[in-house]
Amino acid sequence: MCEDILTKIISHPDAVNQEEVAAVLSDEEITPKLFSKADEIRRKYLGKDVYFRGIIEFSNYCRNNCLYCGIRGGNSVVQRYRMTPDEIVSRAEIILNEGIKTVVLQSGEDPFYTTDMIGEIVSRIKNLGMTITLSIGERDFYEYRYWKDLGADRYLMRHETADESLYAQLHPGDHFETRKAHLLELKRLWYEVGAGSMVGLPGQDDIALAKDILFTYQLDADMVGIGPFIPHPDTPLKDSAGGSLEKTLKMVALTRLFLPDANIPATTALGSISPQGRQMALQCGANVIMPNFTPSPYRAQYALYPNKICIMENDKACGKCSKLLVQNAGYEVSESHGYRRRIAKAHE
Ligand code: SF4
Repeated sequence: MCEDILTKIISHPDAVNQEEVAAVLSDEEITPKLFSKADEIRRKYLGKDVYFRGIIEFSNYCRNNCLYCGIRGGNSVVQRYRMTPDEIVSRAEIILNEGIKTVVLQSGEDPFYTTDMIGEIVSRIKNLGMTITLSIGERDFYEYRYWKDLGADRYLMRHETADESLYAQLHPGDHFETRKAHLLELKRLWYEVGAGSMVGLPGQDDIALAKDILFTYQLDADMVGIGPFIPHPDTPLKDSAGGSLEKTLKMVALTRLFLPDANIPATTALGSISPQGRQMALQCGANVIMPNFTPSPYRAQYALYPNKICIMENDKACGKCSKLLVQNAGYEVSESHGYRRRIAKAHE
């Protein structure tokens, strides 16, 4: 039965319902078939290319209190930092010198960085000839437009869970509909938009996970980042169980079937729960790696979750190690800017 569902996802994704997606997620026997189908589709539409994005985590201040997050505003233990625009731009230059043409600027939701400050950083990095992804949380709609006009190319804002009641529990004072409205506005402004979710959250069942996949499909997300939930000791969820490697990989593979041409990272969180996590993700549908270029000592302080890999590496080590990882997994490092390769009729 689940084999039929895989066939249906590939041929008629619009007709697939959440119960069918959940059935695939709960069926252990289908896993090898699902992974090989996802890799087949990825190779058919994207070849062996793996796109690189250098990430700079420029501030760990956050005004929000997401229950799962190690840098939530209510965590008084974490040591906070902010990078200056000059520091950020000089890190972008290091990324470019490593042959990586895309930079991801990530932070907590930190209003210290005004519209104009972010605009100035975007303009200066665009002048280097780089592609820019902003990942700085929910901001005013006029700001999205302003930064787009200055040259920002992509906006990454994971939805974390598309289950409305779970979303409300995990994000005090916030609602899934708000997050959805922001993502739709970013799409409307022609950003390449990244959504994505966490796997293994307390109270999350396979139907909730199926909602995540169907949401990213309906959004036509250009990027989808999926990682396991890893409980952080300084958060209210510290005693919860974390997400599993296999379930997270199944989410990656199913996403590839629904969105054959989307960019799907092999997330650092996957590499943090298993030494082979990112390689395995590349082998079941993922096609993006995001080496970390946050400078020390800040890198270790951007602790969204514990035991994050690569926090002790030096400037260039992550780029080199990531390239090796890609080659060892049987794929090729792409030196392109890594835009989504639009496929006119992906499922035919
Ligand atoms: S997940 Fe993002 S928005 Fe939520 S507390 Fe952490 S940094 Fe802030």
